[in-house]
Amino acid sequence: MTHYVPEGLPGELKHYIGGELVDSVSGKTFDVLDPVSNTPYVTASAGQAEDVDRAVAAARRAFTDGPWPRLLPRARARILTRIADAVEAQDRRLAELETFDTGLPITQALGQAQRAAENFRFFADLVVAQADDTYQVPGRQVNYVHRKPVGVAGLITPWNTPFMLESWKLAPALASGCTVVLKPAEFTPLSASLWAGIFAEAGLPEGVFNLVNGFGEEAGDALVKHPDVPLISFTGETTTGQTIYRNCATHLKGMSMELGGKSPAIVFADADLDAALDSTLFGVFSLNGERCTAGSRILVERPIYDEFCARYAERAAAIVVGDPHDPATEVGALVHPEHYEKVMRYVELGKSEGRLLAGGGRPSGLDSGNYVAPTVFADVPSTARIFQEEIFGPVVALTPFDTEAEALALANDVKYGLAAYLWTSKLERAHTFAQSVEAGMVWLNSHNVRDLRTPFGGVKASGLGHEGGYRSLDFYTDQQAIHVSLGPVHTARFGAGKGNS
Ligand code: NAD
Repeated sequence: MTHYVPEGLPGELKHYIGGELVDSVSGKTFDVLDPVSNTPYVTASAGQAEDVDRAVAAARRAFTDGPWPRLLPRARARILTRIADAVEAQDRRLAELETFDTGLPITQALGQAQRAAENFRFFADLVVAQADDTYQVPGRQVNYVHRKPVGVAGLITPWNTPFMLESWKLAPALASGCTVVLKPAEFTPLSASLWAGIFAEAGLPEGVFNLVNGFGEEAGDALVKHPDVPLISFTGETTTGQTIYRNCATHLKGMSMELGGKSPAIVFADADLDAALDSTLFGVFSLNGERCTAGSRILVERPIYDEFCARYAERAAAIVVGDPHDPATEVGALVHPEHYEKVMRYVELGKSEGRLLAGGGRPSGLDSGNYVAPTVFADVPSTARIFQEEIFGPVVALTPFDTEAEALALANDVKYGLAAYLWTSKLERAHTFAQSVEAGMVWLNSHNVRDLRTPFGGVKASGLGHEGGYRSLDFYTDQQAIHVSLGPVHTARFGAGKGNS
C-alpha cells in the first residue's frame, strides 16, 4: 500500500513560550511516529520541569501585566473569531496533518477541524452575550456577581482528535481572559504546532498562549504541580485523572476531568432497526473506535437479538479499513503501536469471553501499520473484561436482555458513566430509562450530536464536572459576590455599651 506523507512537514516540534519557539532547556527530544509506517517522522522537544516553569512564568506575566484579562469581552471575541476563521480557512491542511499523525480517516479529521473552528466562534459569541446574576433587596441592598478570570490555566489533552479537544479547552479559557499553558499528548503533537501561528496572526498578545511538548509523567506532572497554575483542565484516561486529582490536592486546584467511558447503546425490539444499526455501527467504529463516547456495549432485546447480530456483523465486516488519507476509508490506523498491542490483547481475550462474529485481528491485505479489523463479539456476559473495560478501539460487545429492568442493570453495571444511547419508539420508556441510566449524557434515537450549549461530562469514573456553554466559563472564572448597601447600615454596635442594638 502506498503511504501518503503530507508535504511541508516540520523538521522539529518545539515548545512555544512567551511568543517564541524554543527547545527544551536540557535539549532533550523524543521521536514521534506516524501510525501507518510506525517510523519516526519528527522529533519533538521533551519538556521538563524547567520548561514548564518558563512557560508558566510567561503566562503569569501575560496575566498580571498584559492586556488580555482586562480587554472588553468584545475585543477578546474579535480575536477568537479571527482564530475561528483561520482554523476554518486551513481545515484541509489541518485534517491532512491530523490524519497523518493520528491515523484518523481524513473525512472524519476534516469534521473535527471544522468543529474546532466552531468552538472558538461559539465562545466568542457567548462571552459577549454573557450576563451575570444580580440580586436586589429593594431599598436596602444590591448584590451582584463580578466574574474574574482565574489566572494561568493548565490544559492537558489526549491523542484522540487532538486539535479539536485542544480547542475545546483553549476557546473557553481564552474567552474567559485566562492565559494558558497547553501540554498536548506525546503521541500526537503535530497539529498542536499550528496553534502558535494561528494565534499570533489573529492578534493574541504574546505569552497568553504557551505550549510545552513532552511526556505526561514529566511535562504534564510539572504543570499539575506548579504552584502558579490554579486550575487544571484534563481529558484522558481515568487512572491518569486519579493521579492528577491527587497531585492537585496540595494546592487545592480547580479541576475539570473528562475521563474514560464504556458507554451502552440499548436497542429495544420496538426501535427503528435500520436507524439503530447505522447509529450503533457509527457509534463505535467512527474515529477508529478511539472515542471516549463510543457506544462499545450494545444491549439488544431478545426478540430482535439474532437478527440484529447477523445484520450488525455483516455491516461491520464490510467496513472499509485502510489508508487514513483515502476518502473512502471508514476505519484508519490506530494511533501508536503500544495502543495497537493493547487493543489486540483485548481482541484475543474477547475470543474466550464472547462469540466472534466479525473481525478478530488484522484485516487481510494490510500487513503493516496499526490496523485492526472492526471486531464484533456476541453473547458477552457483563462479567467479561471486554464488557467492563475501555478498549478504545474498533471492538464491540453485544449482549442480549429480556426486560427493561435487566437492560438498565446491565447498562449501569460498569464503573464508567459517560454516555448512553437508547433506541425505542416508546416515548415514556425513552424518558424513564434515560433518566435512570447512570450516564452524563444520553442520546435518544440519535447518535452523538451535541449542541455546544449543552453540558458535556460524565459521572462515576468518567469524570468530574461539566464543560460546555456557560459551565466552561464558570470553570475558568471566579465568581465574586459583591454586596452593596443602599441605605444606612444597621449593625449591632459591639463595644459601644448599652446602646448596641
Ligand atoms: P492519557 O491519560 O494517557 O493521557 C492524556 C494526557 O495526560 C496526555 O497529554 C499525557 O501526556 C498526560 N499525562 C499522562 N500522565 C500524566 C501525569 N501523571 N500528570 C499529568 N499529565 C499526564 O490518555 P490518552 O491515552 O492520551 O487518551 C485516551 C483516554 O482519554 C481514554 O481513556 C478516553 O476515554 C479519554 N478521553 C475522554 C474524553 C472525555 O471527554 N471524557 C475525551 C477524549 C478522550
